[in-house]
Amino acid sequence: VLEARNLTRSFGPIKGLDDVSLSVGRGEVVVVLGPSGSGKSTLLRALNWIEPADSGDVLLAGESLPWADAARRIARPEHMLDKRRRRLGMVFQSFALFPTMTARQNVALGPRRLLGIPKTQALAAADRLLDKVGLKDKLHSYPVELSGGQRQRVAIARALSMKPDAVLFDEPTSALDPESVGGVLGVMADLAGQGLTMVIVTHEIGFARRIADRIAYMERGRLLMDLPRDQAFGDDAPDYFRAFLSREG
Ligand code: ATP
Ligand code: MG
Repeated sequence: VLEARNLTRSFGPIKGLDDVSLSVGRGEVVVVLGPSGSGKSTLLRALNWIEPADSGDVLLAGESLPWADAARRIARPEHMLDKRRRRLGMVFQSFALFPTMTARQNVALGPRRLLGIPKTQALAAADRLLDKVGLKDKLHSYPVELSGGQRQRVAIARALSMKPDAVLFDEPTSALDPESVGGVLGVMADLAGQGLTMVIVTHEIGFARRIADRIAYMERGRLLMDLPRDQAFGDDAPDYFRAFLSREG
């Protein structure tokens, strides 16, 4: 459903992405691991078209995202609204919820503004999603009244509200208190079990091991490994990956 082909992105002399190809099937959960600075966030931003690659292609459901020409490197509003881009949800380390809106209003905003869904219907859908992420009793809470983990779960509900083809997660738990991490990972595991297509960047190796279908590993902008979970964590995994795992603990 989502495919990156030969993505390259340079920051001066640094290769953020060096000829990266990755294909994610419907319902598949791919976890991207790698040391700091290896290009994981750059890859997600390229996949989601937040920051196009210098070259290469991203296909969503077989359709190319039209950013091959250099002129499109400048983000213009019509690009932000591109229908294809809306079909990818994104959850970041820091959840930018609107502080003046309640949880349900935050979740209903995208469907109302971008999909033109009527207010009552959008709010009812938001309530269902918030229930799904375990926040049934926080529908009317403002972000400031929620814990970090609860806010992140609102952000996940918000990503789901657009009915995306896939959701990309960039270290969704790394800014959270330890006690909040489990709840967010639990919600993500539920979504994986329900067949959501997910690309997850995380440092939670144990979590990756539990829920990933495939493990991709990056180093210095290159995608060095892409293996089914059992092989990645098995005895025949490449040495550099085993070394990474032992460093990460
Ligand atoms: P982390 O685990 O720390 O989040 P990462 O794997 O997500 O790391 P990226 O953020 O993708 O790494 O960065 C990859 C490389 O590209 C790094 O060397 C980084 O310094 C560089 N880089 C990323 N974005 C920019 C930018 N906007 N300008 C300059 N260099 C950048
Ligand atoms: Mg990153």
